[in-house]
Order: sequence, then C-alpha cells, then structure tokens
Amino acid sequence: MAESPDSRSSTSARPTAPNRGDRPVYVIGGGPGGLAVAYALRARGIRAVVLERSGRVGDSWRRHYDRLRLHTTRRLSALPGLPMPRRFGRWPARDDVVRYLEKYAEHHRLEIVTGVEVSRVERTPDGTGWLLHATGGRELTGAAVVVATGFNHTPRVPDWPGRDTYTGEFLHACEYRDAKPFAGRDVLVVGVGNTGAEIAVDLVEGGASRVRLAVRTPPHIVRRSTAGWPAQYSGVLVRRLPVGLVDRLCRVQARVALPDLSARGLPRPGSGLYSRVLEGAIPVQDVGLVDAVRTGAVEVVAAVEGFEEGEVVLADGDRIGPDAIVAATGYVRGLEGLVGGLGVLDDRGRPVVHGARTPSGAPGLYFTGFTTPISGTLRELALDAQRIARAVSRAGGVSRLPA
Ligand SMILES: Cc1cc2nc3c(=O)[nH]c(=O)nc-3n(C[C@H](O)[C@H](O)[C@H](O)COP(=O)(O)OP(=O)(O)OC[C@H]3O[C@@H](n4cnc5c(N)ncnc54)[C@H](O)[C@@H]3O)c2cc1C
Repeated sequence: MAESPDSRSSTSARPTAPNRGDRPVYVIGGGPGGLAVAYALRARGIRAVVLERSGRVGDSWRRHYDRLRLHTTRRLSALPGLPMPRRFGRWPARDDVVRYLEKYAEHHRLEIVTGVEVSRVERTPDGTGWLLHATGGRELTGAAVVVATGFNHTPRVPDWPGRDTYTGEFLHACEYRDAKPFAGRDVLVVGVGNTGAEIAVDLVEGGASRVRLAVRTPPHIVRRSTAGWPAQYSGVLVRRLPVGLVDRLCRVQARVALPDLSARGLPRPGSGLYSRVLEGAIPVQDVGLVDAVRTGAVEVVAAVEGFEEGEVVLADGDRIGPDAIVAATGYVRGLEGLVGGLGVLDDRGRPVVHGARTPSGAPGLYFTGFTTPISGTLRELALDAQRIARAVSRAGGVSRLPA
C-alpha cells in the first residue's frame, strides 16, 4: 500500500537486519517503471520496497500539462498485472494515467514509502549488498537495487549567453500547465520534441496572439494513427528490422502521409527516423502541429543562440522579442549524484546497462526507464520489470515474502 509522507519513519524505511537473506530489494522511484518492477518482484515472492521522494506515486504524471494524452495505446501502455480500463479510451488522458498508477499500487498492495529521496547508492562494506543513503540520514541495506528515477528527471535549460537580459516571462516546459496565462501574448516555444510541438498547438488553440517555434534540427513527424492503425504498432513490428531498412520505409511513409513543410521552415529531416530514435530522438506524434505550421498558426524560426539587450538572438541572425518563452529543451537523467561513483554511467550520463543486465562491477544494481524505444517507453518498462524480477530471483539472496 502507498504510505503518506508522514509514514517516513515506517518500519519499511528502517535499516534492515544484517542477515543477507532478510534484505529487501529497494526500488528507487514510484513512477510507472518502479511500480511495475515492484509488482513483478512481489509476484515472484520477493520483498520489494519502493522509495519515492514525493508524497505520492506517479509524481511526474501529476505535473505534466493538462491536455496531455498518451500517444501510445491504452493496451500497450498498461503495466504487468493490471490492464487499463476500457473507459480510458484508446489514448488515455493524463489524469487517467495518474488514477491508474494509484490503483496499480493499491491493487497489488505494493510496499511504498513516500517522502524518501535516495541521494547515493554504494556497495555495502562487505560487498554483499547495497547501501542507500536517503532523506533524514537514513541508511538502508538492500540485496539489490533498481533505479527507476526517470529519463525525464531534471529539467534542462541551455546555458544561453545573455539570458539574464531577458525581462519577459521564462519557463521550462515542465512548468507549463495550460494556455490561459498566455492568451493574447506573443510566445516563443523553444524545441520541437513532442512536448514543444504540443505546447505550441495548445497556445494557438488557447488564444496566444503569436506563436513561434524555434527549431534547431527538424524532427521526424508521424501521424499518431493512420486509418485506425496506431504508429506505435508499426514501432513494435519494425523494432528488430535492420535500421537502414526501417529508415527507408519511414521516409516513404512520411512522404505519403505528411505534407512538405519546407516552405514553412520545417524540411524533412536528413537522417533516418530509426537512426535518430537510436540516438535518443523520439519522433513527434502529430496532434495538430502539421496543420498549425501549414496554416501559419505556428511560425517556425531558427534555433535560439542567445540573448542580447533583452531580445532573443536566433541562429540565422534574426532578433525577436516575445512576451514569454517556454523552453521545451528536455531533461537530463541526474544520475551522477546517485550512482556516479560506481562507473555505471556512459559519457552522456546514461546507465551502461538496462533491464535484466547489471553492470559487471556492480552486480545487483538494475536500471529501468532510461531508454527511448521505438515501440513505446511504457511498454518497455512493463517488459523490463519482468526481466529484472526474473534476474533478481535467479541471483538469490533476497528477502522472500511468506507464501
Ligand atoms: C510529457 C511526456 C509524455 C509521455 N508520454 C508517453 C506515452 O504516451 N507513452 C509512453 O510509453 N511513454 C511516454 N512518456 C515517457 C515515459 O513513459 C514516462 O516519462 C514515464 O513516466 C516514465 O516512467 P518512469 O517510472 O521511468 O519515470 P517517472 O515517471 O519520471 O518516475 C520517476 C519517479 O522517481 C522519483 N524519484 C526521482 N529521483 C528520486 C530519488 N533520488 N529518490 C526517490 N525517488 C526519486 C520521482 O519523484 C518519480 O516519481 C512520456 C514522457 C513525457 C515527459
């Protein structure tokens, strides 16, 4: 069961006994990834304790913008052991996802301690387990640890020169809720991932007087579904095909399905869709951007280079003076403090392994949710949860629940 922030000193958060077999698996993060792993472990009779820094499960989803719906289907977004209800429709809304995550924790009677942030993970001195340093000086010892702190962990804003000269409103996309505060205003959205694209459309529909979208690299855009066939289904089908072949198929598909927006500043990308996915760039699911750009409701401008005397300087030399800027410039993983000393991160700060694999120098340390699969992240989180539980079970040395 999810516990309230007041339950911080609950028994499940106290250091466990030194006997190796008594140690639970600690899962860091109570988002979809962490909850799915906790369930999969529990289903194998392994005690898993989820440590969540916020007051409730699904915290990331509670903070997303209002109009957000899943762009992956209800069926392929459900976590193991509990389908999403049919009434959510094909593309569940943000609030339904939050309700589902709450229900998931309750339904599976997961052991969750909220209000506990883990700041560092290290090997126990005897090398047989993992020591977690957490809020309030807690030290918790686990047989294994699953890091599920989220791909979209820490908002990233580029270090633009002269930004302090800008006196208009400036916010990261993670602070954007709806278009109301921007009605009648001239807004620049920076970055054309799914979030930037959708916020730009939301601003147009919400009555902003002018909406510009700053684009550095033209994105791949796909229809969320074509003749009732969701783009995600294609992602699942092609994920094991050769990358070059998928790139070619997608290029043909895009030419058939989408208008050429080059004249509006959004040319078709030079590199292939799947190649870009493997570099971490998820295609933009069109929920109105194509029409908005085609009709000029959203104006595409060059990338932001910096600020001068309160104006935004663009890569093509133009200077513009919007009333507000929404930086849809992504997130960083923020794993350095947590596991940075263990040699388990690559040069981009991402874990070197995921799913069932644990780093060679760090047996029993697992990661989930740090990839961007073409087949959908929630689907991958669900699959990884089962793989991780199987691997933990095989490795042994964990606290078992009474039968
Ligand atoms: C706007 C948006 C839309 C998306 N839409 C889709 C979609 O349609 N389909 C899809 O498949 N995927 C989608 N994703 C991607 C992905 O599925 C979600 O980001 C999903 O929430 C990832 O789950 P997670 O558990 O890995 O991370 P999160 O949901 O981010 O959960 C991480 C949790 O860990 C907690 N935490 C972080 N650090 C610590 C710490 N040190 N100690 C304790 N707790 C900690 C956080 O508070 C949080 O609750 C979307 C992502 C975004 C940003």
